[in-house]
Amino acid sequence: MYGRWKMAEGEKTLNALELSMKWRESVDCGPDMLKYWWSRCHKSTAWRRSPIPRRRSASSQLCGRVFKEGETTYSCRDCAIDPTCVLCMDCFQTSVHKGHRYKMHASSGGGFCDCGDLEAWKTGPCCTKHDPGAAAMETDGDCVLEAGLQERARKLFQVLLRYTVDLLVWEESYELPPELQPSVKEDAYYCVLYNDEHHSYDHVIYTLQRSVQCDQREAHTHTALIDKEGRRAVKRGSRQSCQQAKSLIRSNSEHISLQPLRVEILHAVVMAHQSFAMRLGTWFQQIIGYSVGFRQVFCQVALEPSPLPDRPSLISRLMLHDSRLYKGARKIVHELIVCSLLMETEYKRLFAIEFTKHYKQLQKDFISDDHERSLSVTALSVQIFTVPTLARQLIEEGNVVKVIVDTVMEMLSEHLDANNRFHFQGYNSDKFFRIQVIFHDLRYILISKPAVWTDELRTQFLEGFRTFLGMLACMQGMEEVKRQFGQHIEVEPEWEAGFSIQIQLRHILSMFQDWCAADEEVLLLTFKECHTALMSCNNQPFHGEAVDSYMCKHILHTRPYKVSQEPVSIHLPISRLLAGLYVHLCRTGAVKRLHEYVDQECCDFAYFVEHPLRCVVLAAQVSAEMWRRNGLSLVSQVYYYQDVKCRDEMFDKDIIMLQIAASKMDPNHFLILILQRFELFEVFNGSCSSKDQELLKQWNRLTEEMLHLLIIITGERYVPGISHVTKEDVTMREVIHLLCIEPMAHSSLVKGLPENESHETGLENVIPKVSTFKKPGVSGHGLYEVKKECLPEFNPFFYHYSKSQHSKAEDAQKKRRNQEGSDKALPPPRAVEDRGTQWTEAMIQRALHLIGQGLLEEKTQLEASSEEEVAFNFSVKARGIGSEHSKSLFYFLSKLMGLAALEAQKDMIKWTLQMFETVKCLREKSSPHASMSVDHTRPEENVHDKEKAERKRKAEAAKLHRQKIMAQMSAMQKNFIETHKMLYDNMPETGGQGEPSASTESWAMELGESRVAVGPQRGVTLPEREVLTCILCQEEQEVQARAPAMVLTACVQRSAVLTQCRGKALPNTETFDPLFMHPDLAVGTHTGSCGHVMHATCWQKYFEAVQNTTRNRLHAEMIIDLENGEYMCPLCKSLCNTVVPLIALEPLALNYESAELVGQLLTLPRWIQIIQARVNGLQPAPQGSESGSEADSQLYAEGQADFRSILSFGVQAPTKYSDSITEMLVVCATTVHRVGLKVAPNELDPRVPVMSWNTCAFTIQAIDNMLQGEEKTLFGSLQYRQHAGLKAVVQFSAAQRLKCSQAVIQKHFMGMLAALLPIKDVEGTPSILEVDCFHLLVGLVLAVPALYQEETVDLQPSAISSAYNHLHLLQLVTMVHVLQIVLSCQDAAGVIGGDEGEQDKAAAELYRTVAQHTEGLKADVPGWFIADRVRRGVASFLRCAALFFNCLTGVPPPEELSSTAALSAEGQMEALCSYLALPSNLFQLFQEHRETVLPLLQRWCGNPAISKALKGEIPVIMYPRKQNRLIDLPEDYSVLLNQACHFQCPKSSDEDRKHPTLCLFCGAMLCSQSACCQKQMDGEVVGACTVHAATCGAGVGMFLRIRECEVVLMASKTRGSTYPAPYLDDYGETDPQLGRGNPLHLSPERYRKLHQLWQQHCILEEIARSLEVVSVMFAFEWQTL
Ligand SMILES: [Zn+2]
Ligand SMILES: [Zn+2]
Ligand SMILES: [Zn+2]
Ligand SMILES: [Zn+2]
Ligand SMILES: [Zn+2]
Ligand SMILES: [Zn+2]
Ligand SMILES: [Zn+2]
Repeated sequence: MYGRWKMAEGEKTLNALELSMKWRESVDCGPDMLKYWWSRCHKSTAWRRSPIPRRRSASSQLCGRVFKEGETTYSCRDCAIDPTCVLCMDCFQTSVHKGHRYKMHASSGGGFCDCGDLEAWKTGPCCTKHDPGAAAMETDGDCVLEAGLQERARKLFQVLLRYTVDLLVWEESYELPPELQPSVKEDAYYCVLYNDEHHSYDHVIYTLQRSVQCDQREAHTHTALIDKEGRRAVKRGSRQSCQQAKSLIRSNSEHISLQPLRVEILHAVVMAHQSFAMRLGTWFQQIIGYSVGFRQVFCQVALEPSPLPDRPSLISRLMLHDSRLYKGARKIVHELIVCSLLMETEYKRLFAIEFTKHYKQLQKDFISDDHERSLSVTALSVQIFTVPTLARQLIEEGNVVKVIVDTVMEMLSEHLDANNRFHFQGYNSDKFFRIQVIFHDLRYILISKPAVWTDELRTQFLEGFRTFLGMLACMQGMEEVKRQFGQHIEVEPEWEAGFSIQIQLRHILSMFQDWCAADEEVLLLTFKECHTALMSCNNQPFHGEAVDSYMCKHILHTRPYKVSQEPVSIHLPISRLLAGLYVHLCRTGAVKRLHEYVDQECCDFAYFVEHPLRCVVLAAQVSAEMWRRNGLSLVSQVYYYQDVKCRDEMFDKDIIMLQIAASKMDPNHFLILILQRFELFEVFNGSCSSKDQELLKQWNRLTEEMLHLLIIITGERYVPGISHVTKEDVTMREVIHLLCIEPMAHSSLVKGLPENESHETGLENVIPKVSTFKKPGVSGHGLYEVKKECLPEFNPFFYHYSKSQHSKAEDAQKKRRNQEGSDKALPPPRAVEDRGTQWTEAMIQRALHLIGQGLLEEKTQLEASSEEEVAFNFSVKARGIGSEHSKSLFYFLSKLMGLAALEAQKDMIKWTLQMFETVKCLREKSSPHASMSVDHTRPEENVHDKEKAERKRKAEAAKLHRQKIMAQMSAMQKNFIETHKMLYDNMPETGGQGEPSASTESWAMELGESRVAVGPQRGVTLPEREVLTCILCQEEQEVQARAPAMVLTACVQRSAVLTQCRGKALPNTETFDPLFMHPDLAVGTHTGSCGHVMHATCWQKYFEAVQNTTRNRLHAEMIIDLENGEYMCPLCKSLCNTVVPLIALEPLALNYESAELVGQLLTLPRWIQIIQARVNGLQPAPQGSESGSEADSQLYAEGQADFRSILSFGVQAPTKYSDSITEMLVVCATTVHRVGLKVAPNELDPRVPVMSWNTCAFTIQAIDNMLQGEEKTLFGSLQYRQHAGLKAVVQFSAAQRLKCSQAVIQKHFMGMLAALLPIKDVEGTPSILEVDCFHLLVGLVLAVPALYQEETVDLQPSAISSAYNHLHLLQLVTMVHVLQIVLSCQDAAGVIGGDEGEQDKAAAELYRTVAQHTEGLKADVPGWFIADRVRRGVASFLRCAALFFNCLTGVPPPEELSSTAALSAEGQMEALCSYLALPSNLFQLFQEHRETVLPLLQRWCGNPAISKALKGEIPVIMYPRKQNRLIDLPEDYSVLLNQACHFQCPKSSDEDRKHPTLCLFCGAMLCSQSACCQKQMDGEVVGACTVHAATCGAGVGMFLRIRECEVVLMASKTRGSTYPAPYLDDYGETDPQLGRGNPLHLSPERYRKLHQLWQQHCILEEIARSLEVVSVMFAFEWQTL
């Protein structure tokens, strides 16, 4: 079949008809055929390299990588032309921008890498890979097709592309184009399902299962593919059966969601052709990737005008059909466009022209489409319009500005009202949102200002500007509001639409102004246009005729208008644009030529300012609460009017217009106009008065507002063009004022500053100049504090302060001044509205400020030039020179000085009067007098004042004190947990809550100083009276055996913190025997506590109450697992799941004499004999004596007798505990067993006591590990909670034996002992290399008392017996441990050297002995090496043993072990050994008891498992064990992003967005939140992280979600929380979700904190706490991660 067309022979030309005929029947072999064809073509017509080097077009070096959704992109704030210019990860890593101020972001998909685009970057346009210089080395990319091949490719592409386009846009379901129509038409159809935005995944799955016979898996696959591709055939069959399926699907889906799914029936032939066309699309992408030649040919073909008239080019047909294509087809078309047309400068231009030509239609299609924008061809606009040269060409040739604005206008035309103004009530928000997207295009076009203006550009730009003005005219005065009287408005009008357009326009407006300002001609012309537009606006017209207003001999002729009564609008874009352009006229000096363009007669500034003034007055009236009845809608509008998001093109421009008018109009006329619009004219004129308190209050508020406005008009001149300031000065002033409110984080500052079109605020340049940076701690963020030298800039009436910011800043600055003592301590002003009705203190304050401004201005001017030149004579006017002095402002001020009610303003008045004097002196050219005449205070007044001041001061002090206490209290409430935690953490280890810490030290001194915890030299157990306070009932109680139980909160959890074998598969816990802990410590059971004590009864009541209330709380089950006995500590909210009963240590002192006597009897061999005898005697008598066993039983009988003979002094009655203590012992033991083994609670399980010993041992090991990790001393450095928990756990483990069957304990003891001594009939004992010695020690020591139990009497060993038991057990286990270490010395290859010391020799001797008895142990390891290994390896065991015996016996440890002075390893070893009654040369143990030990040694080493291990068949644990640390993270976060970028899911190869997630325990990269890597666990489908955590961290996990830059803590399947990643930007802030995208660097302190969280088993606690804080409203399914 393939042979039919042989391209190389050229006999036949390909034609689409033939192709499709063949491939229709076998769609699936399409790619194979192409491959075949390609190979033929390749062989026969090889191209050669062009002999003449061609001019390399810049574009041929474009990277052009198309971004997948979620892929990280980089932009450079220093070099990118605009923020849409981005680099892919690979290009970024080898670009110069890596060292610049870059930003990282997650792509929303569809864009491509701009590397290599010279127009996108100011510097460094190419990475090293795409650098043209480097690329010259490469061979391809620069090849030119041979003419023949080119021609052939052209023909082929023409045919194939036409076919592809024809079929993709084909809309008939049953028929094909006539030339493709098959002769015979079968009855074969497909039922095709399309995706939509209405139906959820579950809906579709449900529908499919019910409509076409398929199981859930199939339905799932179908649905996933429909979602991905946009459509999918779900059934093939006859037309009738497809019809049936169709109606079933429709009715089923309609049934559940009221809207049917879209289903079509396609004939199999149509389906086949369309599928093939899609594949051709992919094929095109491939083939044009091979050579630039092919790419260019393809572009030519795609853009070729159609031979048929009125038919657009092929590519245009695809674009115009875009919105009707399904998702998968669109993706292919878009990718094809990106990799062809957009990669070639010239073709990109041609494509851009086509695109612009169809722009309006494309946008229309997009708006009525329901797919996301990234799936629309319109999303390509950013690739075209942001290219500066293209943008200019498109303006010149296609007037793209006009095209875009016209498009918007057409889309919005339905919202125009009768006055041709927008009115958005009842708009469709989805559609509206889509329309707004068009504004982005306008912004893109305007991104780069032209450097050179051509006449053509001017004309076209002006044309575009005019269209734009047309749109603004529809906004000018839109959505008017009218003050509501009487009743509150019934329906809040919608206002969001208007403001969202305003927000969209914000940058566009300022960019238009920048463009205009770039050319004087254009500026003047656009001003003229704008002026004309404003004059023809007829919004908010006047209704009355002009009248004259008289005040102070001034007349203003004006038309009346009342904001409070007539309609008014916040939207005045034309007035504001005019103000903006006027500022540019002033800045560039073009204002001088303005008269050539605009008739000065027409420049009526009173008219220009009219509408902005009304808007400002509206804001003032709203603030004076005159518009309360108009509801929240208006409040929100006024808020946004002044908010940072809108203000620069709204409020700020209105102020500018007012300033322009103030400077152009007669000042008195201007003031009268302001008074009138504020509706205060009559009030000020004295022609209107009222007794209505409400009205008076209103007038006062308005007056305050008006004065504030005057302050702003005269004072706020920080605008380039109005004053000689730079943009940087402006930003600096904004920053200072923000920081005067409070110290702020960088991100808060950014939010408080206006952004320009490149999302820049200019903050970085000014921040170091005005502030100092305070670094963050392990939590929180870095803060900036304003520098002291910037404080004089502070203006409490700063115009961008909101009301609350104003008062906060004023308070903060007053407080600051008070502290510095630089001013008289004055309380914040109290408004005196109750007393005076004509004025308020705030008014005076503002008036004084205004006067001050005037005086300062005059002073500045006088200082700069001579008096004659200064026309500004405020002081002269204020002093009333030439008029009646007694009515002057100055006189009035001096009168104010004595007014008691103005105490608070006294300083300001004084300053003002001094200022008058200064200015007067300047005018008279004399220096100001030192003594001021203004201080009129008389002596008697002084006395009175003093008293008053004293009273005031006292009252103030009292008030301050109260405030301080209140603040403390609220801080405490807020931070209750933190505060308490701190208290506990700082508490020394001894002395619990409320317990007067008995000086243990002095006790020890009195009663002998033996600091030995083990054996006959054992020191004294101090009588320790523990009186604790119950945190629930606050009553105190002493901990006593017979008293009601006191319990400690506790949390038991499985832990892999110490594992030496991460990820080890866990044994089946139902049958697992935990008697021996493997030395790899893979999973242990940890019991921790927050250290809080309660009565058992109080706890039980609390627990029940919690269970009941929590059940009713929403989602509480996410936080606490009630079924498993969880609860929150009532005090600190730590998560707990059990309680540990507190058991008091009994004071104990040995009779050393008898101890010594016993010692003579109870030597190690003797002890072993006796114990063996006892143990064997406990076993049932051997059945049927065999030969050789006779002697044995003889021996055992003897030993048994010995055992009994020493019972007389060897035993005592066991302690009796109260019922409640025993009950709590059971509660705790059961929890440990249940959690540790993950089994159902069963208090009769014989494993219960073993688990208690295990948790005791493991918890000690974990604490030791933590202390070593933090390099802390063994004793004295634990936090209170840790120490209290540890003590309680050890005592509990020791005591809980009493609740068990003694036979069970005895059996366990025998089992454990078998690891040390030969015990009859115990099987399955592991070799010594498979046992953790510390677990073994703890088990043996805590189980040995059971041997003393007799059938009828409860007995336990006496103190002396215990001492010897401990001693001998410890010695034996230590020897085993030493042996373990010796056996792990296999890595001693090539180590040589002589053995110097005694210890070395002893070690060498031991090694020789061991080698004799061990198969496969290497000979000739020097003794010093062994000795050193043992010394280092045994330390951890000895430390744990010391902690254990300390908690068990209460004997204080040697001081060296708690001294903070760095103790040498040897010193520590010595201290440990002496405390444990061991020789510091541990090899002596072997030497002393040579006879006894040798047979044991033979037995230990003879175990076949050992030789296996030595051969490397079983892994051997090395000592010291390695300390687990969180994996190393790179310093630079982008390295991690890079890893994530190259992450390949191990299970799937599709290109969907992945969530690479890093396990911080082991470094595994997982594919989180993705269906591909989900697994079944306990009958539930869970995500990769949950699966991983189950083995890696025994259910606990700590992951870094790389793309989200967030740590996830997980515990069990359902619980988790997020935690900030340990990465900070340069401003000391974290960046969850990479929302800001600043470069991030690792914070070692924060990472260490995470490490501690893990090592201290606090992950569970942290999760519970964060969930409690967040009080989540929705249940996040953590298990899906
Ligand atoms: Zn790239
Ligand atoms: Zn590159
Ligand atoms: Zn850069
Ligand atoms: Zn209590
Ligand atoms: Zn607590
Ligand atoms: Zn892991
Ligand atoms: Zn996956």
